[in-house]
Amino acid sequence: MTISSRQEALALDRQDPLAALRAQFDLPDGVIYLDGNSLGPPPRAALSRLAETAAAHWGRDLIKSWNSAGWIDLPKRCGAKIAALIGAAAGDVIVCDSVSVNIFKLASALMKQHPGALAYEHDEFPTDGYILQGLASLTGAPLIKREPGEPANAFKDNVSVLIKSAVHYKTAAVVDIAAWEAEAAKSGAVIIWDLSHAAGVIDINLEGAGARYAVGCGYKYLNGGPGAPAFVFVARAAAQSLDQPLSGWMGHARPFDFGGDYAPAAGVGRFACGTPPILSLASLDAALDVFDGVEMAAIEHKAKALGDIFLARAEALGLESVSPGADERRGGHVSLKFADGYAVVQALIARGVIGDFRTPDLMRFGFAPLYLRYADIWDAADALEEVLRSESWRDPTFAARKAVI
Ligand SMILES: *Cc1c(COP(=O)(O)O)cnc(C)c1O
Repeated sequence: MTISSRQEALALDRQDPLAALRAQFDLPDGVIYLDGNSLGPPPRAALSRLAETAAAHWGRDLIKSWNSAGWIDLPKRCGAKIAALIGAAAGDVIVCDSVSVNIFKLASALMKQHPGALAYEHDEFPTDGYILQGLASLTGAPLIKREPGEPANAFKDNVSVLIKSAVHYKTAAVVDIAAWEAEAAKSGAVIIWDLSHAAGVIDINLEGAGARYAVGCGYKYLNGGPGAPAFVFVARAAAQSLDQPLSGWMGHARPFDFGGDYAPAAGVGRFACGTPPILSLASLDAALDVFDGVEMAAIEHKAKALGDIFLARAEALGLESVSPGADERRGGHVSLKFADGYAVVQALIARGVIGDFRTPDLMRFGFAPLYLRYADIWDAADALEEVLRSESWRDPTFAARKAVI
């Protein structure tokens, strides 16, 4: 989709079936937030749930809240809500730990059943490779760094467990999950899908695509809040035979028997480990309700349209994109190459347009459809044009690197 004026953007906002959802978010004035793929903004319901959980449940009902406020069910309750967004059965997803820890648990369990090499692509989100490196050194398993562009039919070198992002964190390229699963099946390999940049922004049907294992983030497009826990999906039939090594009491079949030996819970519940972070889970639980009754196809469609509009404006400024173009499937963000991209992003942030930068030279802009308007994208592109034309990014204050970029 391309448009050529702010008027047209406003017209698209008037016809947007998702437009009303924006009111459910607490967004600061004067900010166009293009970083929801890194940290989603707070849904109003999440903020009030946090306040209620802290004051009424923790503060007044105290330990009774495990039962009276349903704290103990939160990992599964949130899991069922996420399952609906990724094409999984309600009982096959649990929320726990971080993506990093969940990769460790899942890859450890899978490599016992599928001896061979662990593999990842070398430009994958770093933690995915780091965790496999740790696991390889712990177990002595061979580790293979694949070339990013290698096709799905490259299950060679005895690869038995591959981790792969469904949407790439830099480019937003979308992978054909079904095609990769079909290739993996030919050699008996298994794939752990990392849905961190996919869940909540593209229309995924894990079961339909034959996927059995996935992990993903709670704080990006799912808007669970800073440090919100991650999720694990394991198809029911596959879960029963998996042993994960972090056999903590919350993954036990009967944690409150306080029994002598570990016995895993049925299904994906065995991937839980220790006491769940209730404040974060409460916030995520409320945040997920924003997706109630919203079709993922409509969300993906709007993300693509917003990205197309921004991309066309950026390319008109002579910027090069590393993301899929208008005629390809793309996740919710667009990355533009620019040598001084860090300074440009800082100059944009100073003007209230918040994106981020990924080293060495990518300016990354996320287009979360639940709260962004077409006119915001037009205005953000105006700001980018202005920063580049005026070269205001050359101000030395914009070059100073912060601790978190
Ligand atoms: C954000 C992200 C993660 C984050 O991992 P945590 O351990 O939860 O911090 C992992 N993988 C990908 C692809 C991501 O985008």
